[in-house]
Formats: sequence, C-alpha cells, structure tokens
Amino acid sequence: MIVADRKPLNEILEMVKDYKKILLVGCKGCVTVCNVGGAKEVGILGSILRLARAKEGNPLEVDEKTLERQCDPEYVNQIKDVVDEYDAIVSMACGVGPQFLSERYPQKRIYPAVNTTFFGGAVQHGVWAERCAGCGTCIIHYFDGLCPIARCSKSLLNGPCGGSAGGKCEVSKDIECIWDTIVRKKMEQGRLQDLLEIKPPKDWTTARDGGPRKSVREELII
Ligand code: SF4
Ligand code: SF4
Repeated sequence: MIVADRKPLNEILEMVKDYKKILLVGCKGCVTVCNVGGAKEVGILGSILRLARAKEGNPLEVDEKTLERQCDPEYVNQIKDVVDEYDAIVSMACGVGPQFLSERYPQKRIYPAVNTTFFGGAVQHGVWAERCAGCGTCIIHYFDGLCPIARCSKSLLNGPCGGSAGGKCEVSKDIECIWDTIVRKKMEQGRLQDLLEIKPPKDWTTARDGGPRKSVREELII
C-alpha cells in the first residue's frame, strides 16, 4: 500500500490561515490502513483545527467527508454539489488524492494534509516499512523476493557495498542491509552461485526516469 504521515499541525494551520470554512476530505484506501487519513483521522484533525483556531479567536468551520477513494473520479465526483460552499479543500489522501481533486475542481484551492512517503507495509503494529520503489520492471525473482532497489540505500544490484557491517547499512544502524539478508538467504539455501551472474545496468525508462507513467488496459476502456 501507499504509506503516508500526517503533516505537522503548524504547517496545516498555516495553509488554512486565511480561510473561514474548509472541507476536510479523507480516503478509505491506503491512508486508512496506515492510520493517517481515514474517517477517524479526519475527525481528529478536524477537531484539532477547530480548537486551534478557536483558541486564536479566529474560528474555522471544518466539515468532514471521507471518500471511498480519492484516486477514482467516480468517488471524487461525490462532493461536486458541496465544494462551492468551502473556501478550500484539505485532502488527507496520498499525493494522488489532492491532484484528482484539483483536476476535478480546478477553481478550488486544494491542500495536502499528509506527506506521502513510500510503498510498503506494516512490519509491526504502528510501524510501516518501505518495500517497493515502483520501478516498473520487477526483478526481485533474482534476489529471492527481496528488493534491493527499494531496500538497499544505494539500490545496488550486484551485491553489498563495503559499508555493510553486522547486517546493518552504513547509512544508519537502524537500517537493515538488505544485501546481507539476500546473501545469507542464498547461503542458507545453497544457492550463493546465483549471485555470480552479474546483473547489467537496469533500464530505468520504466521508472520515473522515463517521465510520468500510464498503465493502459485496452480491454477495460469504455
Ligand atoms: S524491483 Fe521494482 S517493482 Fe519490484 S519490488 Fe523492487 S522497486 Fe518494486
Ligand atoms: S550497506 Fe547494504 S543496504 Fe547499505 S548501501 Fe551498502 S549494500 Fe546497500
């Protein structure tokens, strides 16, 4: 899923400082799963914003709405009859949501309330970790299902750098050296020779380096 973190409150307050009435829009997709932008978090942020502004003696009216998804025009369309009632819309979806809102409601000021960080999953309750960098051509079968592009700090494809020590990355002792894990897994399974095959430089044109990407499925186009 897409993982995100809520922006600092001061940053959000600064965004809406000139407004009297805003619509706070959540999303029931990934940001609900990572506890940052679902109905519960929309309710919490709405209350905090109202209280903060009331304390300043400059009340802010905040209405709340959580859409099924903000990355789908069908759901973004559901607020079409009410958007004109607001000075601005604050989105609690990943970076896709505010952009779909901006494209659907071009006259409206749109603000992001979250920082979108990575594709990942929950490794323990309350902790999410990166697993994929969306490179567009998955090659993790060479590495026993582990991704050195997203999980090695240097995205190395041919073994660890010289900084790997004790299973940790030289960038931080808090970061697993995924190459250490890959090598150990190969050794345990008696397949270390797999790594003797040098991987050529990756073609990055399917990643962001090739510009904004599209996925077209002709059979689904109406
Ligand atoms: S190889 Fe590419 S698509 Fe596959 S997990 Fe890594 S970044 Fe994601
Ligand atoms: S120490 Fe490991 S994870 Fe860190 S950059 Fe080197 S190979 Fe990559």
